[in-house]
Amino acid sequence: MFDAQFAGVGMTSQRTRERLVKRLREKGIQDERVLTLIEQVPRHIFVDEALSHQAYDDTALPIGYGQTISQPWVVARMTELLIAPKMPQTVLEIGTGCGYQTAILAALGIKVFSVERIKPLQDAAKQRLRDLKLHNVQFKYADGGFGWPSQGPFDAILAACSPAEIPAELLEQLAPGGRLVMPVGEEEQWLTVVDYQDNEFVAERLEPVKFVPFQRGVE
Ligand code: SAH
Repeated sequence: MFDAQFAGVGMTSQRTRERLVKRLREKGIQDERVLTLIEQVPRHIFVDEALSHQAYDDTALPIGYGQTISQPWVVARMTELLIAPKMPQTVLEIGTGCGYQTAILAALGIKVFSVERIKPLQDAAKQRLRDLKLHNVQFKYADGGFGWPSQGPFDAILAACSPAEIPAELLEQLAPGGRLVMPVGEEEQWLTVVDYQDNEFVAERLEPVKFVPFQRGVE
């Protein structure tokens, strides 16, 4: 799917990636479309070269500016939840970060609208997505708490940062039949799924998680 230059060697090789996929299966990830992409998308290009030997460990890693690339299990779990009811055509993503989750969504063929409040992170993410020839992504430098009203409503919404409560603007931009997946809470955070069905928002709390905070304004 990606150019040979992204294939990786040693700790970023195909074998190392297969080990990660095996671990994710053991931890309950079942969606083959997601597992295939975890194997194919070169996570090592999303982190600093000094950390690339850890890129296929199932851990979060620092990406600068006090932020982290999400743990592969979390990315897989959220993606699996997001596409479970039906494959969305459009997704609003809050918190581009290094762009790894963005790449997984784009590689699924989804049109991604990704908002980030730290400009240098977003610029680097944009370049990586270009390098991977994933062009079905639009980026916006803004406080994602307002969503992206001119492009909505969205079939699905995903956030990788945790607010005390889900901003009303995000729910307003969810299309009927749509699904939102994000962490909610401050000290104690829960991975939460909200389905917009029959004019009602139905929320379900899944498992405890640990994300960076959802911060307001831009940096
Ligand atoms: N999936 C990303 C996660 C990055 S961490 C990755 O794997 O790299 C979460 C990101 O959310 C950070 O980059 C942070 O700057 C961003 N963020 C936090 N609050 C935000 C907000 N209100 N709007 C947009 N981005 C936000």
